[in-house]
Amino acid sequence: MRSIRGDLLDINRKERAQTPSLEIDNRIPEERICDFNEVNLQLTPEQAMYEASRCIQCPDPAPCVRACPVNNDIPSAMWLISQGKFAEAAKLYRKTSSFPEICGRICPHSQLCQGSCAQSKHDDPVYTGYLEAFVTCYMRCLEGVEYEIADPIDQSIAVVGSGPSGLAVADMLIQKGYSVTVFDSKPEPGGLLLYGIPNFKLDKRVVRDTIEDLVKMGVNFIGNTFIGKDKTIKDLFEEGFDAVFLGVGTGIDASMKTEGEELPGVWKGTEFLIRSSVDEDILPENMKDGIGIGTNVVVIGGGDTASDCLRTAVRVGYKGVTCLYRRTENEMPGSRKDRGLAREEVATYEFLTQPIKFIAGEDGRLASVECVRMELGEPGSDGRRRPEPIEGSNFMVEADTAVLALGYWPDETISNTTPGLKTHNWGLLETDETHATSVEGVFAGGDAVTGPDLVVTAMKTGREAAESIDKYLTGKR
Ligand SMILES: Cc1cc2nc3c(=O)[nH]c(=O)nc-3n(C[C@H](O)[C@H](O)[C@H](O)COP(=O)(O)OP(=O)(O)OC[C@H]3O[C@@H](n4cnc5c(N)ncnc54)[C@H](O)[C@@H]3O)c2cc1C
Repeated sequence: MRSIRGDLLDINRKERAQTPSLEIDNRIPEERICDFNEVNLQLTPEQAMYEASRCIQCPDPAPCVRACPVNNDIPSAMWLISQGKFAEAAKLYRKTSSFPEICGRICPHSQLCQGSCAQSKHDDPVYTGYLEAFVTCYMRCLEGVEYEIADPIDQSIAVVGSGPSGLAVADMLIQKGYSVTVFDSKPEPGGLLLYGIPNFKLDKRVVRDTIEDLVKMGVNFIGNTFIGKDKTIKDLFEEGFDAVFLGVGTGIDASMKTEGEELPGVWKGTEFLIRSSVDEDILPENMKDGIGIGTNVVVIGGGDTASDCLRTAVRVGYKGVTCLYRRTENEMPGSRKDRGLAREEVATYEFLTQPIKFIAGEDGRLASVECVRMELGEPGSDGRRRPEPIEGSNFMVEADTAVLALGYWPDETISNTTPGLKTHNWGLLETDETHATSVEGVFAGGDAVTGPDLVVTAMKTGREAAESIDKYLTGKR
């Protein structure tokens, strides 16, 4: 890496450390709430070179590289960008990441690379996320993306699930020369990248570009096929696949088990996001009838899905958009940055508030939510202070729509239809350190193994599983 970064003794670290950070602009809230387009404005090449030149080139192992789950060589990339060597920087990212344009947009950088940047001790960190997205997109537009595909190998892999983990497996194995087919129950591939994460965070065009690359390389995508229902894992082996990767995510939204939860107007988070923002022609058949927008929506939960639902509700036209959370803001698990953006877009927050009943109006639809005030008690087993109801503090919130953004569970259809496939922790797939499951030839990764996590961690497990599948199939040849 040193050769890429040149003679680092020459750089003036002090001068770099004192260079003020770039003012990164978002579109103004009044404009961005009128559409689902991305909130961030793209950098210009000059801005990118300036910002990258703030990197003080920490010695190896640099903290940002260690904080990146896939260990992107960020200091070298910063060095190349600062020199205007965009093509080389983009290629460097693609060595360790299957979709840097996506990670550059939606990784929680402030908790990963940017959070560990040495510059953040006295100034803003180097905006490594924006730079990753800029340079990889810029080079795609200018020159396209080139891949090297090895000579064909007469072995094939079935990838079940086309989210980041499955796409990463497909990316790695197709380049090694294998034949790869990706099955998904949804009409279009992408997993939560397409059917979950809203367009204002991640433009669907960027996801489709990545999938188009894979199609060009020879990956075969088959949609509308639910493995475990339409065909089983055993069927896949009988059809001639030599190995199977399961990247099926955690597709079941958690419920509250609260009275009135079944009322029209009460939605699960992912379904609300899909129905309100995914293009009609790729909506699953059972979601084609939209959401029937109302006036006041409450979103229940404190994670990133809650922020996404609040910001989606603002964009589809709700007048009152309120988040109800049973603890205080300090305990909220979701990204602070996304909450800041939601507030700018005029979403409001009610903390220490627990909904206890959904109440119908005369038309049988949701009309209000009965809530109780909470206070924080002693810490629970997870170290977080437990919320406890204050007796007699019940109050009503008027809402014609409620969205439950409470977390996710694994769907057990595959484990129930695959003899010998071991699970743990309420249905997560059990794997060893090579990402192999308890069934020979079946590997797994992503949220289905780790529980709900991040795009970058799902991609990382997919890339590692692909190496293991390669070893396994090489052994069989
Ligand atoms: C609303 C929301 C916002 C998020 N925002 C961010 C963010 O900003 N940054 C970030 O890093 N992470 C974010 N995440 C988390 C991230 O999206 C996930 O961690 C990641 O997508 C997991 O990837 P995966 O490959 O494991 O599964 P998924 O992306 O969940 O993909 C699984 C795929 O498998 C398919 N499938 C499931 N069962 C079957 C079956 N039996 N047969 C065929 N196909 C099947 C599903 O249809 C789906 O397409 C967000 C998640 C949500 C829900």
